Amino acid sequence: MASRAAGDYPEVPEPLPVPGVDTHTHLDICTGARGPIKSGEPAPEVEPGADEEFPPLAFFHDTAQQAGVTRIVQIGCDMRSARWTAEVVAAEAAAGRDWMLGGVAIHPNEAPRLAAVGLLEESLTEIEQLAAGERIRVVGETGLDYFRTEDDGIAAQQESFRAHIEIAKRQGLALQIHDRNAHADVLRILDEEGAPDVTVFHCFSGDAEFARACAERGFFMSFAGNITFKNAADLRHAAAVVPPRLLLSETDAPFLTPHPHRGRPGGPYLTAVTLRKLAEVREEPLAEVCEQVSANAEQAFGTWEL
Ligand SMILES: [Zn+2]
Ligand SMILES: [Zn+2]
Repeated sequence: MASRAAGDYPEVPEPLPVPGVDTHTHLDICTGARGPIKSGEPAPEVEPGADEEFPPLAFFHDTAQQAGVTRIVQIGCDMRSARWTAEVVAAEAAAGRDWMLGGVAIHPNEAPRLAAVGLLEESLTEIEQLAAGERIRVVGETGLDYFRTEDDGIAAQQESFRAHIEIAKRQGLALQIHDRNAHADVLRILDEEGAPDVTVFHCFSGDAEFARACAERGFFMSFAGNITFKNAADLRHAAAVVPPRLLLSETDAPFLTPHPHRGRPGGPYLTAVTLRKLAEVREEPLAEVCEQVSANAEQAFGTWEL
């Protein structure tokens, strides 16, 4: 993804007939924002090497509202973006804009890096403090990523995942799981620890059989733009068998921009494309899917209303 200036983003699609929701997005990355380097300090005004152009937060707010994606969950999953997330969701609420809730965690690919420099434990403590913040309703994304992590990082990743499960339970928050090439171990660890009341597989990447295993446990399954990709037949079969009450939608923006815009940066507004695809593969009316997903999101994360 060479550039993420406003002109690189696809056009806003036709608005949804009923408001939709993006339950997992990274507006810190979309806006080029980085949070404080140290806890309690302001973020640096100029990032070293930040000569790229990024759209402001208002661009993502406005395009999302235009597409009928009226509510989002902003996810900060390293220490700086988690601090940024806690600040921004509180500031948006204070300004009377109710579109944003937040989630904080240490990403499974970040956990081994922090462990290697001896900072995992104190970072987890800070995540728990941030998780108690106003408008933070999610501990995530956490989980396992066996695609990007070397074997020697897996122990730290599993330790971090277990710690996040505990934080979600103590704080009474939803757990959002990142699971890449690690389905069996993610389920095993959730079964061993006892999953939080609300557990969500973000960017669900399993097949229909794995979707049934998640449904048996009452886990939500959230689908992103990759459901529109040509090679994603298994994912579409999975989406078709998810019980209505466990279905969620997201973008994981700026990543996983749906077809036919794959490869370009994306924003929360493109959830509208994913919801249309979900309606198609489930053979359900679009308005019904939007209503169901929005109701599920409130069930999982609470109300967005101020
Ligand atoms: Zn993820
Ligand atoms: Zn993500």
